[in-house]
Amino acid sequence: MTVTVRFAPSPTGLIHIGNTRTALLNWLFARRNGGRFLLRFDDTDVERSREDYAQAIAADLDWLGLRPDAVYRQSDRGALYAAAAETLKAAGVLYPCYETADELERRRARARALGRPPVYDRAALKLTPDDRARLEAEGRKPHWRFLLPNHDGDPLAPRRTDVTWDDLCRGPQAIDLASLSDPVLVREDGTCLYTFTSVVDDADLAITHVIRGEDHVANSAVQIALFRALGAEPPVLAHHNLLTTADGEGLSKRKGALSVSSLRESGLEPMALASLAVLTGSSQAVEAVASLDALAERLDLAGISKSSARFDPAELETLNAHLVHALPYATVADRLAALGIGGGEAFWLAVRDNCVRVADAALWWPVVAGEIVPVIAAEDRDYLASAGALLPDGEVTAATWKVWTEALKGATGRKGKGLFLPLRQALTGHDHGPDMNALLPLIGRERILARLA
Ligand code: GLU
Repeated sequence: MTVTVRFAPSPTGLIHIGNTRTALLNWLFARRNGGRFLLRFDDTDVERSREDYAQAIAADLDWLGLRPDAVYRQSDRGALYAAAAETLKAAGVLYPCYETADELERRRARARALGRPPVYDRAALKLTPDDRARLEAEGRKPHWRFLLPNHDGDPLAPRRTDVTWDDLCRGPQAIDLASLSDPVLVREDGTCLYTFTSVVDDADLAITHVIRGEDHVANSAVQIALFRALGAEPPVLAHHNLLTTADGEGLSKRKGALSVSSLRESGLEPMALASLAVLTGSSQAVEAVASLDALAERLDLAGISKSSARFDPAELETLNAHLVHALPYATVADRLAALGIGGGEAFWLAVRDNCVRVADAALWWPVVAGEIVPVIAAEDRDYLASAGALLPDGEVTAATWKVWTEALKGATGRKGKGLFLPLRQALTGHDHGPDMNALLPLIGRERILARLA
């Protein structure tokens, strides 16, 4: 069977680095196994789902290099859910309930006060057809709950029933279905809840592996039971730890925290984000990995740690710098051109080690092709004038800097900082920067002499 995974965001906000972790783990898993990666928008919550968020999520994934083999929207698949609900009703495991939210809350509060778990007591199963008719005549509409298979024929006498699975991240798992309320699958207005639609889709789309955050572990017990009730084999499950910021705070789509869009707009490389999102909280060191294929080789779901994965957003800068320092010119040529930066490969190779972001090259472009304000200390004026006179004749090449500064050393007796720094400051306007061997030919004789004067 072809490995098939899906990333299933609800389009209720922009995806952040934590969602990126889920998307990447799925994509990398598919890549490693020659499988398929599907994008499914869980947009059954019509109030909160928005088309612009769906488009932004698709664009963010595209920027990361995660191209789905197919895209689905739950809002297009209502007929499938309705048919599945009928199957469950016919099997007697989807039953109508009429309690209002207030009534349920009161019952939960009472259970808590009595020290009992706030599990739904299945009171609706005791309703007779007459009771139901009366409630409906009062204008009440039912919501529908899934009868969890945690009993021996009498649902009003539930007993411990462990659902188990071998989690690819967390190892063997067991959850007692008697500790859970029968989940609502269909609301009063007929719309379906995620717990249900996700299972129907995963079965219909032949998803073989569900890789998602550990906030879904309890859902998994219910969903495994649902798959079986629908006559489908549950997929293999993997629940990864969640990313939190260094202060331990979780990320939220709605808070817009560290959204992929904002990180992209800040000029970061997608692989900086991907490296951090995948390697944080894993068995491996967090370091810049140059490509998704290289990252796929490191994928190790079992090595993901069991505790939450703290990350420091500042690490993105460090990872980005590492990546930028190794980017070949061909990869950045278009972006440099869009920034109005010329100079071809020679310029890029001269300056990339001094860039945290590709756009930082803009700082050095005027140094070789425009105007700068030379920094000249009064006491260096004579030295710089003599430097102009000693600039070797002929074409300025990568060898010029060495020949020139050797000559200056002999002529002036200066050495070290006193020899080099005034030249760098006058020629670039900065105290630090790219290697002068490479920069000098790009600045060219005319500019060199003009800046020393
Ligand atoms: N829409 C769910 C979420 O965003 C998907 C969970 C899942 O992968 O099943 O959390």
